[in-house]
Amino acid sequence: MSATTARVAIVTGGSRGIGRQVVSRLAADGYAVVVNYASNDAEGRSAAEEVIAKGGQALAIRADVSDEVAVAALFDAAEEAFGGVDVVVNAAGVMTPGTPLVDLDLNVLDRVMRVNMRGAFVVAQQAARRLRRGGALITFSTSVTKLAHPGYSAYNASKSAVEGMTLILARELRGRDITVNTVAPGPTATDLFLGANTEEAIARLAAQPPLERLGQPADIAEVVAFLAGPARWVNGQVLLVNGGII
Ligand code: NAP
Repeated sequence: MSATTARVAIVTGGSRGIGRQVVSRLAADGYAVVVNYASNDAEGRSAAEEVIAKGGQALAIRADVSDEVAVAALFDAAEEAFGGVDVVVNAAGVMTPGTPLVDLDLNVLDRVMRVNMRGAFVVAQQAARRLRRGGALITFSTSVTKLAHPGYSAYNASKSAVEGMTLILARELRGRDITVNTVAPGPTATDLFLGANTEEAIARLAAQPPLERLGQPADIAEVVAFLAGPARWVNGQVLLVNGGII
């Protein structure tokens, strides 16, 4: 497939964890992929190189999703390299540690809202301006919005906002043939999850789903790939992807 005919995807937070698996899955499906990340250049480069080594097309671009100038430049780079944008997956996100609301440092609240909520908004704004017909925007929430685990007030607030914003945007894009959905994973074995939990908490959470294991990034990437391409009749939805915890 030539550089101008492949469907093109931008994956924010594509250098590690779930986003990286989404990069690999979309590339295997034939997409040219722009891998976005915040700070770790080596991981960003290696995610793109992995795609290229398998015969695909990829580009790594550093940009903080909450910075509207950097995100506009990210979309410019995708259009320049590959001719347009068909799919945007906003996997970039941060999680707060399990501090009760009463004791939460408000700087932590500001940081999580800035990356998760403002970042999703900034990326959605560019997606709404630039996605081609037949396109898809996939935002990321969390099953915590339904499970309501104590200690996750700021994270939950940021992700509930993403769910609300996503439904409105799906309706605002009437007539554009663009789907807009949110994927809400349960506990998934990535640095973000494993780094924020004790071994005991990890074992407890892994035992919760009827399938009795943690989610793997590939479990989530499967659903993103479905929403990115074949699932044209799923629109304005929050898909809980958690092995049946709730
Ligand atoms: P992860 O392993 O920590 O990876 C985070 C990725 O996001 C990295 O590529 C990181 O890049 C990037 N990133 C962080 N802040 C960014 C910013 N401001 N701008 C651009 N990129 C940024 O996370 P994950 O577990 O894969 O999570 C992916 C998404 O799923 C998040 O939205 C998270 O809230 C959601 N989620 C995860 C779980 C779970 O259990 N893992 C459950 C529910 C929902 P750098 O390395 O360069 O910083």
